[in-house]
Parts: sequence; C-alpha cells; structure tokens
Amino acid sequence: MKIPKKLNLAFLPTPIYKIENLSKELNENIFIKRDDLTGVEFSGNKIRKLEYSVFQALIENAEVLITCGGIQSNHARATAMVAAKLGLKSHLVLRSNSVPSPKGNHLLDMLVGAKITYLSENEFQNNLKHKMEEIKKEYKKNGIISYIIPLGASNGIGNFGYYNCMDEIIEFEKINNIIFDTIVCTVGSGGTYSGLFLNNLINNHNRKIIGFNVSDDSDYFKKKVEEIVNESMNLINIKKDFSKEDIEIIDGYVGRGYALSTSSELEFIKKIAKSEGIVLDPVYTGKCFKGMYEEIKKDRFKDSTNILFIHTGGLFGLFPKADEFDF
Ligand SMILES: *Cc1c(COP(=O)(O)O)cnc(C)c1O
Repeated sequence: MKIPKKLNLAFLPTPIYKIENLSKELNENIFIKRDDLTGVEFSGNKIRKLEYSVFQALIENAEVLITCGGIQSNHARATAMVAAKLGLKSHLVLRSNSVPSPKGNHLLDMLVGAKITYLSENEFQNNLKHKMEEIKKEYKKNGIISYIIPLGASNGIGNFGYYNCMDEIIEFEKINNIIFDTIVCTVGSGGTYSGLFLNNLINNHNRKIIGFNVSDDSDYFKKKVEEIVNESMNLINIKKDFSKEDIEIIDGYVGRGYALSTSSELEFIKKIAKSEGIVLDPVYTGKCFKGMYEEIKKDRFKDSTNILFIHTGGLFGLFPKADEFDF
C-alpha cells in the first residue's frame, strides 16, 4: 500500500514516556505522547496533517495557503508558520466578532505577516466554506494560485498525518517491547482521531482508539470521522468495511462550549501541571485529559493495560486565558 507523499516539517518522532504520579494516583499505566513537541512555531498536531496538505498545495503550484479557525486557532498559526518557511503567503479566516488585540496564536499569526479576514461567529458557522472559496476566486482573478486547507486540515489528505503518527507509535512499541492497547486523543475537527483510526483499521492493530470531543457531540463526530476515513481510503484505493459503532468518541466533557472554560477545567489544568510538570491547554487537551481522568475513575478503562494519551499541543492558547485562572 502506498500512502501519499509528504513534506518533512515536524520534529519526529515525538517522545513517549510514562506519567508516573498520575499512574500511581489512578492505579493505571498512563503514558503520554508529546505531540506538543513537534516544534515551537509548528507545535501541536496540525503540523503532522499539514505535512500532507501542503505537499498537495505545492504540487498545485499554490502561492497562498488559505485556511480557517477560531481566533486562537493552533491550526491557523501552524499554517501561517509553514507558509513563511516555504516562502508562501497565508490567508487566515478567523472567527471573531471584532478585531481583537493580538495575543497567543493570533499574535504569532500577525508576527509572521498572515493576511487575516475576521468572520463573525454567525458567519463563521453558516458561511465559512463560501467565504474561503470567495477568497480563492479573488486571488485567481489576480492570477494567483491559492490552496484551501479545510478546518483543522481534517480531510482525506490531512488524515495521513495521524496515520503516520500511528506508525510511529507501533515503531516505539516494537523497540520498547510494550503494547498501548488504548490510545486517547482530543476530537476538535476529527482528523487526529480519524488518522489513528484509519491506520488501526487498515493494519489490523486492534487497539482501542478513544476520542473526547471538545465541541458539538459524539454523533456529529462519528459521522465526520466516517467521512474522512472513507475519503482517505479512496485516495489510496483501499476498501475496508467498518461500522460507525467502532468509532468510540466519548461525549460529556465539552463544558460551556468550544474554547470556553469552566473553573473546574482550569483547576484540573493546574492539578496536572503541579503533579506532572505537564501543561495542558484549555481548549483541547485540558478537556480531553479531564475526560480521561474522570472516566478512569468510573472504571471505563478497567480492561486497559497501557493507556497512551496524545498531547496534541495548544500551549499558546493558554496565555490569553490567564485572567480566568484562580490563584
Ligand atoms: C486542533 C487541535 C486538536 C483537535 O484535533 P482535531 O484533529 O482537529 O480533531 C487537539 N488539540 C489541539 C491542541 C489542537 O490544536
């Protein structure tokens, strides 16, 4: 089987190690894969997907990368940084009702000279695709080729980023003589989960892949993951049946909504920082880790021998939330 070609942008493989204090507290073997260490400017999970998406953009001779996300989008920031590195331009469509003063990821977008279009929450919800197409057309009118990367690069091609990550995990297992029977990740636009799922499916690894959604609900993401997985299989001419029931996404940890925090979520981020020296982010990994922690306490993972949590990054999104913490 031939998976699509990619660029080499991330620092890979990322480390895996056991988090000892929490493992003791919960009486489980919990390991972490530090995908927050894929780079500094490129940090987090999106760069793995961009290695594939941007390869395609270059094949199409694109000069501008168009993508989108929340105002603190890690994906938009990673895309803007990649564009700079490759001598391309970036055009970001960010969700915000006003033009805020730059902080966190948004500050980095500005630093690197990304062109930014701000869309109101309502327009972002209802008119995003159309807006990005419009921007692409506008470039085309001026003789400029652009390439649209969808939200989170979560589509058939970007999906190979976490397909690749699963290969990395299996390689680590062989070298270190361990099996991670349960792999946990955050679900925000679906592409991290779906990439792991695709590799697990095609190569019969038989691992439990468990996601925690941080927006919408699990039904929405099961459908999304199914779509992405099928799109990827079409790209590599493979057909393998699976059922939506095999997609395990646990709902119940969205809290107040996407990118909004509750005080108990922020307290939890403090707890993990204190007990392990690991910083989770408020939008994604904080909610997911909290979900995993609570579900372990409810015995949902009692059949798991070794759990691997994927830290997908997001540190820059923590700083703009400083005032919401209680110290
Ligand atoms: C985007 C993102 C996620 C969610 O991953 P998806 O592939 O979009 O589901 C998780 N963690 C961080 C830090 C992210 O930026």
